[in-house]
Amino acid sequence: MDQATLADLIDGKLPWHQLKEVLSGTKDIDRFDLYLEVMQSRVAFPEKILLPLAEHLYVVSSGDGRRLVKCDCGYEFGPLERNWKESAAVLVRDSEELLEEIYDPWHRCDPAWMELREFYCPGCWSLLELEAVPPGYPVIFDFRPDIDTFYREYLGREPE
Ligand SMILES: [Zn+2]
Repeated sequence: MDQATLADLIDGKLPWHQLKEVLSGTKDIDRFDLYLEVMQSRVAFPEKILLPLAEHLYVVSSGDGRRLVKCDCGYEFGPLERNWKESAAVLVRDSEELLEEIYDPWHRCDPAWMELREFYCPGCWSLLELEAVPPGYPVIFDFRPDIDTFYREYLGREPE
């Protein structure tokens, strides 16, 4: 698979006949590296992407051995070990007034039982994550990948 085809796949622009071929075909051994190249070409920061973390978010190498979470706009959320949500802008929809902004009465939760937490990037205001949790529930730490094991075990090399 070439870079342009992979970019179309990422953007959901691949025609069905090609998509079907990709889905059912043998995966290229270098697909992950090609994916990182495409994503690196799209972000507004120079640090090397080690792993995509979520839509808009990446684990990057700081260059001095630290691993950081960054948004594609360049906003830095801090070290990978810390929950990036602590550095996000948050809107908690915990009242009828805030819920009715986006949901009609028959399709929204009861704020006494559940609240919606919207996490935004303070740099570009992209919606990054949504939690639907009981009021008072701790902020969820979604995913902390083991970068070293992933690179060693699955890619057969050391991460940068
Ligand atoms: Zn951003």
